[in-house]
Amino acid sequence: MNPQPSNGMPYDVDAVRADFPILHQEHHTGVPLIYLDNAASSQKPNQVIDTLDDYYRRYNANVHRGIHKLSEAATFAYEEARIKVKKFINAPSKREIIYTRGTTEGINLVAQTWARANLSEGDVVVSTQMEHHSNIVPWQMLAAEKGVHIRYVPVLPDGTLDLNAYAQILREEPVKLVTVMYVSNVLGTVNPVAQMARQAHDAGALILVDGAQAVPHMPVDVQALDCDFFVFSGHKMIGPTGIGVLYGRRDLLEAMPPWMGGGDMISRVRLEGSTWNELPYKFEAGTPAIAEAIGLGAAVDYLSALGMENIHAHEQAMTVYALDRLAEVPGITLYGPDAEKKGAVATFSMQGIHAHDVAQLLDGQGIAVRAGHHCAQPLHDVLGIPASARASFYLYNTFTEIDALIEGLYKAKTAFTL
Ligand code: PLP
Repeated sequence: MNPQPSNGMPYDVDAVRADFPILHQEHHTGVPLIYLDNAASSQKPNQVIDTLDDYYRRYNANVHRGIHKLSEAATFAYEEARIKVKKFINAPSKREIIYTRGTTEGINLVAQTWARANLSEGDVVVSTQMEHHSNIVPWQMLAAEKGVHIRYVPVLPDGTLDLNAYAQILREEPVKLVTVMYVSNVLGTVNPVAQMARQAHDAGALILVDGAQAVPHMPVDVQALDCDFFVFSGHKMIGPTGIGVLYGRRDLLEAMPPWMGGGDMISRVRLEGSTWNELPYKFEAGTPAIAEAIGLGAAVDYLSALGMENIHAHEQAMTVYALDRLAEVPGITLYGPDAEKKGAVATFSMQGIHAHDVAQLLDGQGIAVRAGHHCAQPLHDVLGIPASARASFYLYNTFTEIDALIEGLYKAKTAFTL
């Protein structure tokens, strides 16, 4: 189908599923695929796959440099996708939309440009105990180089951030940057980033928001959040791999030095030195991920047509149902806040069965979940467990699939108690 604007119509999950060819295959002979690993990466609809195919078949060429028709068509589509992304997150201008390879690259870009240029010994970066490694390690690397200190906001037993501790750090330390995830990929916690941004600004600090688990699942407005930097990945929002976005406030981006040097990011190169291109190209050195950017535009079209509020409501209903049903299974421990307060993630452990075994036994039943530390080892240290299992839901998942997950867990339990 082509998803229609919401119009208050009921969410038609069957019509959505019809667009995703991978969902219609057998995972093993006679066993259908139930894909519940969406927080790691999402599946792609025909509309995105066809967009990539069309680019390579009809107008594959480099962007911003050819005078010929193919290059003009590629450039047009590449820049049109940027405008779609700008509208999707309500950025003020397309110049503030920098294409990256993903969330990880976006955070590293800010660490290596803005932070390197503006932070010095003794300055403080505030992160949290629940961050993905991509929002911890780049700051540790910077800290080692520049003598910057990192403070981590603790996670409370209910899976939310200790906002009193956050306020105290801002009051007492020379904080220059707060860097926090919008939605936790493990706990599902939706952090109050608009409030955290206000507090950071009142303390004279900037805020970077990791939106990797937010943009695919709920409406996001970077102006309403009043964040200074915002990063996310295309592959988690039904778009291609290898493409992501850094939104940055224009005055900051203008003042920042470039990161990678090469073609397209320059205005003039002389052997004695070079000058930089205007935004956003100053940060897009070399041939970019052209097909992937255009594919991201198609993903944005698809999600927008379906309506992010509708997708969010569908996921919330599924999360409430999944957590209720999971709580019925004997020996299960659930992590994170109540369903109403969290994203579409159900992370759990099962007494007496290692998370990897849970995932393997589910895989045998056609159910794909993630097991491990989910790139959040410090959070698992806080939870006191080496690993957990995670089912994560998206726009095409169904209540029947959740029932299958529960049945699968009962089977796993039986297998381990035999
Ligand atoms: N931040 C969060 C919250 C994530 O869930 C992920 C991916 O799992 C990342 C960052 C890293 O994203 P990528 O690997 O696309 O750069």
